[in-house]
Amino acid sequence: MSFTVAIDGPAAAGKGTISKAVASHFGFAHLDTGLLYRAVGAKVLAGADPVTAARALDPVDLENDALRTPAVAQAASEVAVIPDVRAALVAFQQGFARRDGGAVLDGRDIGTVICPQADVKIFVTASAECRAQRRFDELTGKGTDITYETVLADVKARDKRDRDRAASPLVPAEDAVMLDTSDLSIEQAVAQAIAIITDAGGVASRL
Ligand code: C5P
Repeated sequence: MSFTVAIDGPAAAGKGTISKAVASHFGFAHLDTGLLYRAVGAKVLAGADPVTAARALDPVDLENDALRTPAVAQAASEVAVIPDVRAALVAFQQGFARRDGGAVLDGRDIGTVICPQADVKIFVTASAECRAQRRFDELTGKGTDITYETVLADVKARDKRDRDRAASPLVPAEDAVMLDTSDLSIEQAVAQAIAIITDAGGVASRL
């Protein structure tokens, strides 16, 4: 039996952490769909054509720590505006969403375009400053030499590109539950997401 949870929102709002935690809580599989765009972006930085790279993408391409750099994040948001790149990635995401035993997908357009019939949709937000601070702490914690101002500018540039693009822009689905994590700890945000899924989905009776 499939059960799909769509978790969307802007960069560094906490989607990844929340998605992993709820997937583990309910025993669902998790797909970070940003990794698909990052993998294509990384190939483009290495000289590939974006549409060819998207069509040839292999799931093993996603298991690569080098996809977490700011340069790859920017390249990802640039390839993500290309409709043929997005189209090439749809089938893989929809197949993942339908797998038996439940799936959590996080991204930008999961509740609106990839899985409009998702059982639960959550849109995770936080202020740009709060998101930049979290991403700055994460990057400097890994030893990356970067300033807070640079991270904030990157977050704002990606927000603008994601929101303004014609193909699958970043926008909450009409039936998404909003979850603002600006003033929440990770534990509080995860607890709220679990409560939303439990309330909205009737998970126990569906699986
Ligand atoms: O979530 P993450 O920061 O890894 O995503 C990298 C970029 O990939 C985003 O800025 C966005 O442009 C793009 N993306 C997208 N649709 C998704 C997931 C990510 O356009 N479902």
